[in-house]
Amino acid sequence: MKQFFTFLLLGLISISLVNCAKEQDKTNASTTEEIPFAIVIHGGAGIIKKEFISPEKEKEITNKLQESLDAGYAILNIGGTSLDAVQAAINVMENSPLFNAGKGAVFNSNGKNEMDASIMEGKTLNAGAVAGVQNIKNPINLARLVMDSINHVMLSGKGAELFAKKHHIKFEEDVYFYTERRWNSLMKVKEKKGEKLPIKNANNLSTNYVDDHKYGTVGAVAIDKNGNIAAATSTGGMTNKKFNRIGDSPIIGAGTYANNNTCGVSSTGTGEYFIRTLAAHETSNIVQYKNLSLKNALHEVIFNQIAPLGGDGGMIGLDKKGVVAWDFNTEGMYRGYKRSIGENVVKLYGE
Ligand code: ASP
Repeated sequence: MKQFFTFLLLGLISISLVNCAKEQDKTNASTTEEIPFAIVIHGGAGIIKKEFISPEKEKEITNKLQESLDAGYAILNIGGTSLDAVQAAINVMENSPLFNAGKGAVFNSNGKNEMDASIMEGKTLNAGAVAGVQNIKNPINLARLVMDSINHVMLSGKGAELFAKKHHIKFEEDVYFYTERRWNSLMKVKEKKGEKLPIKNANNLSTNYVDDHKYGTVGAVAIDKNGNIAAATSTGGMTNKKFNRIGDSPIIGAGTYANNNTCGVSSTGTGEYFIRTLAAHETSNIVQYKNLSLKNALHEVIFNQIAPLGGDGGMIGLDKKGVVAWDFNTEGMYRGYKRSIGENVVKLYGE
C-alpha cells in the first residue's frame, strides 16, 4: 500500500513538472514571436533643407510630428487597431496649418482647397477613399467612413460631400482653410506662369513670397498588437492644380497600400509618377515576389522606377514584422516613427 502511494506521488510530481515545462515553452515562444507594434508617419517630401527653415519653425514641425506619432502610438499601446492609429495620427497633421492636408491644404487654380485621402486595412484589403472634396475638416475620416459603411471604395467631389453631410462629417467654411503661406504659393506659381490671379486677396498681396519647396502631404502606416497593418494618406494635392486634377494620394495602390502578408506604404511627391508606377502596390509586390526587404523595395521603386520618369518624392512604410523603412529622392522629408521596442525618431532633412 505504502509503495502504491509512493508511486502515485512520484507520478503526480512528474506530470506537473512536464506541464510546467510546457507552460514555460509557451511563454518563451510567445515572447520570441511577438511582433512589436509601431507607427511611422510622413508630413511631405521636397526641398527641405536646414537653411530654409528657422529654428523656431523646425521646432514647431518636429513637435507636431511627435504629437502625431504619440496620438497613433497611444491607441496601439492600449491594444487599439492600426486603422484607428493611422487615422488619429493623420488627424493631428490635418488639423495643423503646417502640412498640405486639411487645414493647411494648398489652393487649386481657382483659389479653392480641394482635398484627397485614402485608407486601407492590410488584414481584409478593405479600403476607402475620397477625391476632390471641399470644406471637409478631416478628409481621412470621410475615407474611413466610405470604407466602413458602403460597398464602394472611392467617392469624389459633390457626391462625396453629400455623403459626408448625410453622415454628419464635420465641415468648415473656406476661411478655415485659408493660410497666407499657401495663398502666396499659389500667387507665386501663377505669376511665374503668367496666369490670371484669383480675386481673393490679390490686391493686398505681400510681395515677400514664401516658397514652400515641398509637397507636404501627410501619411501614416501602423502595425498593431495583433499584427494587423493599416496605411493612410491625406493631401490638398498640388498648388494651382486644374480641372479637378486628382493625384496619387486617394488611389489605392499608388498613394496608399496595406497588406498583412507584405507591408503598408504611404507616398508623397509628384502624384502623377506614383500613379503611373502604382508605387505603393509595386513596393508590396517587390517585397512579396522578389523577396526584398521593404527598405530595398522602396529604394527600387523610387530610384529605379519613379526617378527615371522624372518624378520625385518619398515613401514610408513598415513590414509584417514591424520593421520600419523610408526612402526619398528629394532633399528632405518630414518623417518619424515610434516602436514598442523603445525607438522614437523624428527627422526632417536628408541624412
Ligand atoms: N502626392 C500628392 C499629389 O500629387 C502631393 C504631395 O505629396 O504633396 O497630389
